[in-house]
Amino acid sequence: MGFLSAALDRIKPSPTIAVTNKARELAAAGRDVIGLGAGEPDFDTPAHIREAAKRAIDAGKTRYTAVDGIPELKRAICAKFARENGLTYTPAQVTVGTGGKQVLYNALMATLNPGDEVIVPAPYWVSYPDMVLLAGGTPVFVECPVDSGFKMTPAALEAAITPRTKWLIFNSPSNPTGAGYTAAELRGLTDVLMRHPHVWVMADDMYEHLVFDDFVFATPAQVEPGLYDRTLTVNGVSKAYAMTGWRIGYAGGPADLIRAMGVIQSQSTSNPCSVSQWAAVAALEGPQDFLPGFRAAFQRRRDLVVAGLNACPGIRCPKPDGAFYVYPSIAGCIGKTSAAGARITDDEAFATALLEETGVAVVFGAAFGLSPAFRISYATADAVLDEACRRIRSFCEGLV
Ligand code: GLU
Repeated sequence: MGFLSAALDRIKPSPTIAVTNKARELAAAGRDVIGLGAGEPDFDTPAHIREAAKRAIDAGKTRYTAVDGIPELKRAICAKFARENGLTYTPAQVTVGTGGKQVLYNALMATLNPGDEVIVPAPYWVSYPDMVLLAGGTPVFVECPVDSGFKMTPAALEAAITPRTKWLIFNSPSNPTGAGYTAAELRGLTDVLMRHPHVWVMADDMYEHLVFDDFVFATPAQVEPGLYDRTLTVNGVSKAYAMTGWRIGYAGGPADLIRAMGVIQSQSTSNPCSVSQWAAVAALEGPQDFLPGFRAAFQRRRDLVVAGLNACPGIRCPKPDGAFYVYPSIAGCIGKTSAAGARITDDEAFATALLEETGVAVVFGAAFGLSPAFRISYATADAVLDEACRRIRSFCEGLV
């Protein structure tokens, strides 16, 4: 349609959200659907956080706030970065937005010019490339196959860097694979970055607290303090504190960049929700004792889903280090035909047939840039996951 911006030709609707909406629609129409599309914890926001939000409403904290965050939240974020990441930021180096998503978008809008390149390891979270494209930049993908544990090697990073490279977007533990980089693995990448002073790092640490077994989280500016002046460390309360709907993300980074991001936000949404900001203060400053319980539940579900999927013919599911996603390969299913006669030509066809024939909604791998695969968000009840695995198995057993 001629009326719409050319920018829309460069992007597509978010596939994670599209799958979730589709599952919701089918369920509303009476279908028996198991939605494993969008990733969000199924836990309730902890009570002390909800209480803080109610108090904020009653105290009249319902008006505009400073565009990029109330001072109390900025101070809580500075304390979090110091406590958990060994990173020193002042409030002028901290910005708060409507979810990590807006923070990433602000940063790209504030820095990209046409022709600027952004390195995006694939598989990637669906919105990174489209945000880069919307901001006028060019995503440069580095394929990180399952055999490399879905992780980028220093040599692959080195090969992707050009004089036009502006950012590396780095996400560990990863959405969609759950792969986490150890500090030693990260060091290999930061050594490369130290040789290329024009490349900045956008570290998306959203799944920091959701790590399993003995995996220890690390973030680039902590591993290599030499990168501090060109790293934006992005995080949020959505995943760790079961607060997806409250929409609070934040970042720490160089003051000039933080200021520029605030300019973008001042001309788009202004401040993130005032009540949510007070809830986020309570999340960051309050007790953290529920986190091990969240982690244990996710780890149990990870093990359940990995075992369930590896029992399906044609599926191979690696074991993630963190987050709440698995990203199984379905190479063994491609080229087959489902019990209802659907040709499984690619992973989108697989996900479509799986939803039609079993009611299980997953996101197809092409949306994340590495096929053939699909992503399951296992942040849901064990019994639901058991049933989903049973249906996927019977679907796979029906492929001929
Ligand atoms: N980060 C979540 C996911 O990947 C939320 C949905 C979205 O914003 O993409 O499913």
